[in-house]
Amino acid sequence: MVTQLSGSMETIYNDVVKRNPGEAEFHQAVKEVLESVAPALVKYPEFVEARIIERICEPERQTIFRVPWQDDKGQMHVNRGIRVQFNSALGPYKGGIRFHPSVYLGIIKFLGFEQIFKNSLTGLPIGGGKGGSDFDPKGKSDSEVMRFCQSFMIELHRLIGEHTDVPAGDIGVGAREIGYMFGQYKRLTNRFEAGVLTGKGLLYGGSLARTQATGYGCTYFVEEMLKAKNNSFDGKKVVVSGSGNVAIYTLEKVVQLGGKVIAMSDSGGYVVDEKGFDFGTIKRLKEVERRRIKDYCDYHKHARYIEGGSIWDVPCDIAMPSATQNELTGKDAKELVKNGCIAVGEGANMPSTPEAIQVFLDAGVLFGPAKAANAGGVATSALEMQQNAGREAWEFAEVDAKLHQIMRNIYKTTSEAADEFGVPGNFVVGANIAGFIKVARVMMIHGLI
Ligand code: NDP
Repeated sequence: MVTQLSGSMETIYNDVVKRNPGEAEFHQAVKEVLESVAPALVKYPEFVEARIIERICEPERQTIFRVPWQDDKGQMHVNRGIRVQFNSALGPYKGGIRFHPSVYLGIIKFLGFEQIFKNSLTGLPIGGGKGGSDFDPKGKSDSEVMRFCQSFMIELHRLIGEHTDVPAGDIGVGAREIGYMFGQYKRLTNRFEAGVLTGKGLLYGGSLARTQATGYGCTYFVEEMLKAKNNSFDGKKVVVSGSGNVAIYTLEKVVQLGGKVIAMSDSGGYVVDEKGFDFGTIKRLKEVERRRIKDYCDYHKHARYIEGGSIWDVPCDIAMPSATQNELTGKDAKELVKNGCIAVGEGANMPSTPEAIQVFLDAGVLFGPAKAANAGGVATSALEMQQNAGREAWEFAEVDAKLHQIMRNIYKTTSEAADEFGVPGNFVVGANIAGFIKVARVMMIHGLI
């Protein structure tokens, strides 16, 4: 089936590369989806005729803007802001904002593109978008971060709204940044529009369990994959890369389910704690004190810090990459397989390179791709929007139960699509096809847009 259409897919892909030069991450994300959805186009030839693929690869709108700001010494700086509104077939554009020096259009487009299919998989009414800036919040004072966020929002506010586009956090953007951005949006628009941003603080419209949602959700997804093989987290050694929002709550949930997290990292290196990471220490170090992962060893003397190197060299049963894109290479994947890894859950977006994914699939490792495995964050953001719309605030247990059910449904949808299209156990293809079909059908219903 795939070969029948690969020629036209290749033409479409080459065209995407030509029209979006230099955007390697975006090309990579498009390629993975195009490789996966070919069988769906055989089943639904009307999508080919309506040029759904070509339309889906082109953002509905993308905006680049200047963000000038002043540091504490009065020096002026200029950063670049980006918002890509990729697809609104299923609902308002929805996707986080990333502040990291590596940010450029290609990264925001890959994230926005992935978000379309991920959001579709959640079953909730949200389209796909993403934004960010090459601003580096690391080492900046609170007031510098505030001034940057305010300047960023002066441009962003024209583009967003509770029925239009609803940003949230991502790398470098947490509750503090969302708070500053919300305050500025309210001031600029003279509207307390709670549903315009998600990931808000609990005192002004945030949802309980949103902070935990991506890490918890990814762990629930891996739990489902294991359960289908009569297995569980119980007694498993788990390596979680990163030590940010996603990684912290992956650690918490893995421990709750009986597993042991034995390694965590940041961009400087990784720490190994064979006794199992202590959630309280990590939470305090990272969320309150904003310190580095190596400082964990100050409190747990038996733990060791390895500067640089690859965290994937640490032998484990389950790997949960939760830092950034392309952090797990083909070589890393081979090492993990060699050391007996049985499952991978992608907490970060596109953390495994295409070569790594192939190694896992060939070795029969259970592989939960980001679009499915980390969709719990955006799903809970949609639950936050629901609460805001109804002026309600649900209990933690209620939100968590809904999140858990959403992750079970995503697993079921993904795994059933993989079965239906002849690749049982291939959740990459399953997630891409299931996410794609729903968006494509709605685009057909909406006419030529
Ligand atoms: P945070 O900013 O909270 O944490 C990011 C973590 O990753 C930090 O520990 C950071 O270390 C580390 N990191 C970043 N770049 C690198 C690198 N090049 N090498 C090694 N480590 C690195 O971000 P989040 O936890 O929110 O996001 C992590 C990933 O999860 C991203 O891919 C994001 O898109 C994805 N995601 C997040 C969601 C959310 O709800 N937050 C939802 C869905 C996906 P350092 O401090 O040294 O930079």
